[in-house]
Amino acid sequence: MKNQLTANELRQKYIDFFVSKGHTQISGASLVPENDPTVLFTTAGMHPLVPYILGAEHPSGKRLTDYQKCIRTGDIEAVGDPHHLTFFEMLGNWSLGDYFKKEAIGFSFEFLTEVLGLDASQLSVTVFAGDSLVPRDEEAASTWESLGIDRERIFFLPREDNWWGPAGETGPCGPDSEMFIDTGRPACGPDCRPGCSCGKYFEIWNDVFMGYKKNADGSYTEMERKCVDTGMGIERTIAILQGKKSVYETEVFTSILAGIEKLSNKHYSDQEESDISFRILADHIRTSVFILGDPKGMAPSNVGQGYILRRLIRRAVRHGHKLGIEGSFLGELAL
Ligand SMILES: [Zn+2]
Repeated sequence: MKNQLTANELRQKYIDFFVSKGHTQISGASLVPENDPTVLFTTAGMHPLVPYILGAEHPSGKRLTDYQKCIRTGDIEAVGDPHHLTFFEMLGNWSLGDYFKKEAIGFSFEFLTEVLGLDASQLSVTVFAGDSLVPRDEEAASTWESLGIDRERIFFLPREDNWWGPAGETGPCGPDSEMFIDTGRPACGPDCRPGCSCGKYFEIWNDVFMGYKKNADGSYTEMERKCVDTGMGIERTIAILQGKKSVYETEVFTSILAGIEKLSNKHYSDQEESDISFRILADHIRTSVFILGDPKGMAPSNVGQGYILRRLIRRAVRHGHKLGIEGSFLGELAL
């Protein structure tokens, strides 16, 4: 699999595709959530749309698409390995009480095979296996099958893997269906399946079918107004499509890693220990730039978002020093 699609091209193709399917492109929201005091940053593409999934009418209609800047601060300490990022962009398409499962899966399949040019045999999908509260999602499975995904590539997984929500104790929720690229490597064992960490499968997209409401007594009621929420991480997806081992090997990071190489006189991918510092520095500078450039205008401080920003900058400086970069260098790398 060698598709040299860049992040910018993937973003544009995704938006164009969903606009051609009757969706309105809306602009992504601020990195600081409007309607959610429980978290510091927007953590997923669907985050700003929660009120509309809950029933509010969206001024741009019932079919929406966008790309959303996201920050996951729970991952700060995990950054340094080849995969984790604190900042990433998520593509999404939404149905707010308009189309549902069949159409959503049809759009996903068409985009993956016709726009991205993947073969159905390179894809595997997961669907909800069902339990005592909600039946198994046979409709999702048979829709995938009718489009050309073999039964043996459709995996029924339990609630912990294939169920979303509700956001609080009660409210809209439902089964999801995750799409994976199968690298074609041999299975690591009899239990190897999408979600396995051996590297055979890489998740690229998730369609959530919000067709249920969880009630206060723990039961589920099918909703009249059903919604679809989907999410595709741009950096991860292009890395997989480009056949790269890591998001840091994509063009998204080329210039910042080159800048660090120049300042440190070291080479990225020479030594694991310095590579970790390269990745932390690159990720943290990128995230800090987006926080500083956000329309909500944040600055380093002792609390809230400003505290996270301060932590990122401090950690970036520390790893810059570890690489032998002296003086104040962040401004140079942030350009
Ligand atoms: Zn495996």
